[in-house]
Amino acid sequence: MHLLSTQDMTLADIERIFNKALVKEKEHFRPKIRNSAKKILANLFYEPSTRTSSSFFSAATKLGHTVLQINEVKYSSVTKGETLEDTIRTISQYADAIVLRHPDIGAARTAANVSDVPIINAGDGAGEHPTQTLLDLYTIWKKCRKQGKDINGLSITLMGDLKNGRTIHSLLNILRLYNVKITLVSPDNLRLPESVYRDSTNFNEGRRIAEEPTLTEKICQDTDVLYVKRVQKERGSVAEYQLTNEQVKHFKNDMMVMHPLPRNEEIPQWFDNDRRAYYFEQIKNGLYIRMAILEDIFL
Ligand code: ASP
Repeated sequence: MHLLSTQDMTLADIERIFNKALVKEKEHFRPKIRNSAKKILANLFYEPSTRTSSSFFSAATKLGHTVLQINEVKYSSVTKGETLEDTIRTISQYADAIVLRHPDIGAARTAANVSDVPIINAGDGAGEHPTQTLLDLYTIWKKCRKQGKDINGLSITLMGDLKNGRTIHSLLNILRLYNVKITLVSPDNLRLPESVYRDSTNFNEGRRIAEEPTLTEKICQDTDVLYVKRVQKERGSVAEYQLTNEQVKHFKNDMMVMHPLPRNEEIPQWFDNDRRAYYFEQIKNGLYIRMAILEDIFL
């Protein structure tokens, strides 16, 4: 079973993974290790990563698995001109699953076509980043549960580089499964690609999606979850935006501000101690979700 896109996921998949993550969280750094199930996970990264790569490493290690870490493809045969397909064919003989990050959209599917083992998409260019989305949604889901609420009915605002932000694309794809109000806020040159818009709206006819160029007072007052994305300079995006004090003043008391990180200037550091800042919580949840994903794939 590959994990390539949030488009392939069902509510049952999400619930299964979230419940496993809750168990991992309860076991808190002392998961029950089943040595008989020891596997090798390859972390194959053609692009920089801090959280995704280290959390998969940590998740696999905590579960008792071994990690084949190829973070710097420049030390591999990739520099000798080897194709992605040949590299995947090779690594899939040594590992039981491959976590792949690659600069090209669709690379994870290309890899899955030739791999003998499951491929986990850890970011394919400006395409998707499904494991980030699972941890994002898990963060929202846990907060809702605590308050006896549901994801359905939330007002979710996605702000920033919606064009090249892959975590935005995966999140929108998964939100098609819920009845949420979505507001897209982005500079004109970084608006959501039409294809992502169509894919994420196809499934749920009743959904409401609005588009705005700036985060207005009215949006701030209405938003339950504000998901901010940095300008993806490495993919040619250019823009400037930053959360202001004035905007924060209009936020609801119990809303959440999320960010997949790394951030640049879009969320100023003075906001970090605000109880509505959830981006550090997301990091923590990333470990549990990736443990759950590995357990799901390896069982
Ligand atoms: N770490 C996330 C990603 O790989 C977010 C970002 O880079 O902006 O997409």
